[in-house]
Amino acid sequence: MSHLLEVKNLCKYFPIKSGFLKRTVRTVKAVDDVTFYVKKGETFGLVGESGCGKSTTGRAILRLIEPTSGEVWFDGNNIAELPKSQLRKARRHMQMVFQDPYASLNPQMSVAELIEEPLKVHQMYASAKERKEKVLEIAETVGLNRSQIDRYPHEFSGGQRQRIGIARALSLQPKLIIADEPVSALDVSIQSQVINLMEDLQEEFGLTYIFIAHDLSVVKHISDRVGVMYLGRMVEMGTKHEIYDEGAHPYTQALLSAVPIPNPKLRRERIVLKGDVPNPANPPTGCAFHPRCPKAFERCKQERPQLTHLGGEHYVACHLYDNESIGHRGKG
Ligand code: SF4
Repeated sequence: MSHLLEVKNLCKYFPIKSGFLKRTVRTVKAVDDVTFYVKKGETFGLVGESGCGKSTTGRAILRLIEPTSGEVWFDGNNIAELPKSQLRKARRHMQMVFQDPYASLNPQMSVAELIEEPLKVHQMYASAKERKEKVLEIAETVGLNRSQIDRYPHEFSGGQRQRIGIARALSLQPKLIIADEPVSALDVSIQSQVINLMEDLQEEFGLTYIFIAHDLSVVKHISDRVGVMYLGRMVEMGTKHEIYDEGAHPYTQALLSAVPIPNPKLRRERIVLKGDVPNPANPPTGCAFHPRCPKAFERCKQERPQLTHLGGEHYVACHLYDNESIGHRGKG
């Protein structure tokens, strides 16, 4: 499977300004040196607590916010450096589905107009008739019927609104869809309908997804590979099996220990993390996880761990897995 997207050393820093002269007094490193790839046709799940930088990563890839530095290779182009005129064309192939479909849909436009808008912007069809036929086809693909397309977003339930959001993203026949917490605002029963729809569409159109969520069960269900982020950095990455069955980073292990197991006979010891996520404007030295890590040792306070290859597609950023630290591995 070839790589559709390669993100290299992506950074997004936000300056904090203060005083009369609005001088930059600090910098929040929302995304800090993040590197990963996404294969054609797969779903790459991106997980972590809120504020870990996963949504900012998604937005920086599409340049909905400008990255501070780094490379985003898609279809032979470095999106991070494309001039605005070419960026618009490239974005046709990379679409986003948002958490709150209501906020992302213009309440004054009907469903038909909402789906048609991207087609008009990108001048996809020569005639209005062709465009309208396409709108109907897309609406039906996501499970909306003809009688619904002249209605307005407020007339729909949350799940149906997310179908409209997906229809808009789908209308331009993208290769990549970045879905940012697409089901977290929905009831559990509706969540599975939307996820099933996304899976069906992936199969039908050969779509590639980056699925951003904080719910590890949902990510496990839909993903082929998973990246775990903490305080702006990728701390572990691997196949679903490598992360969920062999998670190596103490943070991943703590997150997984909180996920309920469907079999009531099986018990898993819960790892309770000390303290809260640190202030990203003033992150801890060395490994940013060290103040909360049950396995931290002296080196963790001084030196930032880099991603180390554990074999297969499994990578982890933790000194327990550096060659120099092998002796510490497994110490509690
Ligand atoms: Fe814990 Fe140290 Fe590994 Fe960071 S580098 S996760 S503090 S053991």
